[in-house]
Amino acid sequence: MLETTIAGSLPKPAWLAEPETLWAAWKPERGDALAEAQRDAMRLVLMEQEDAGIDIVTEGEQSRQHFVHGFLETLTGLDFDNPKRIGIRDGRYQADCPRVIGAIARTGPVHAAEARFARAHTTRKLKFTLPGPMTIVDTVADEHYGDRATLAMAFAALLNDEARDLEAAGVDVIQFDEPAYNVYMDDVKTWGIASLERAILGLGCTTAIHICYGYGIDANRDWKAGLGREWRQYEDIFPVLAASGIDQVSLECRNSRVPMSLIGLLGDKDVLVGAIDVASAEIETPEQVAAVIREALEFVPADRIQPCTNCGMVPLGRDVARAKLQALAAGAAIVRAELARR
Ligand code: ZN
Repeated sequence: MLETTIAGSLPKPAWLAEPETLWAAWKPERGDALAEAQRDAMRLVLMEQEDAGIDIVTEGEQSRQHFVHGFLETLTGLDFDNPKRIGIRDGRYQADCPRVIGAIARTGPVHAAEARFARAHTTRKLKFTLPGPMTIVDTVADEHYGDRATLAMAFAALLNDEARDLEAAGVDVIQFDEPAYNVYMDDVKTWGIASLERAILGLGCTTAIHICYGYGIDANRDWKAGLGREWRQYEDIFPVLAASGIDQVSLECRNSRVPMSLIGLLGDKDVLVGAIDVASAEIETPEQVAAVIREALEFVPADRIQPCTNCGMVPLGRDVARAKLQALAAGAAIVRAELARR
């Protein structure tokens, strides 16, 4: 009950990439030195999660520069050498994105080696994250398919092949990250959810979606400041997720303006309740974490709640991330003990 987990990413050691930086360049040269450094970093983040008492761990995305482009880098049909600056998330901010210039295909498994390495170095349940099809479509410049729904289904087919490889590597939970879901609510209903269903087709492992209002970058802060006192975007899409085949939904609850009551719209899904703010270096107390979990318990039973972080922790300092992991586990333990006494 109340198994703890994280949204996905963790900070990279300073010898692997510049700390507290999004899209940070690798420090080691490409090739064997980089691969070895990434494996070393994976061992560290697995150990740090175990030491903190996290139940369902990840490899912390230590081998990816960016949560979307990490999956895309080895695909054919994309041009990374001549990126195009486009407005993403409905023009909220500009980003240099790879161009889709032909039919997309995998040249082989993308992350299976990382998953196998992580599987060999922890006995805990292992989660692996992939970008969701709708968010990928929103983070590339399409010059070939000409239609976002068609492109999403093409990416979803590749994601499904990748997810099957990850499952075969021993991954227990595969999570698709979809920060685009609260931007294009109508598209979620018309083609977003269909592409997610395609991505999880035939999987036997647990499947999850992480939805989110974005990292603490200025463009996101400004956007969120204008969203009003309550963020109700999910009210539209939670019934759609509830009717889907996805097993778990991860969202931000700590310092969030998403009304907690909305998680009651998620039907029988497990809810990964974000109880750790990733946009602040302030360390939550275990009691603050426990308070978020208790509020969630008013709407979802304990056997369907997993205390989690609001989002990836890659922009934080390592010491801050470690302390937040400990607070998360300690807060969950408080509530578990309370439930046991009832
Ligand atoms: Zn997120």
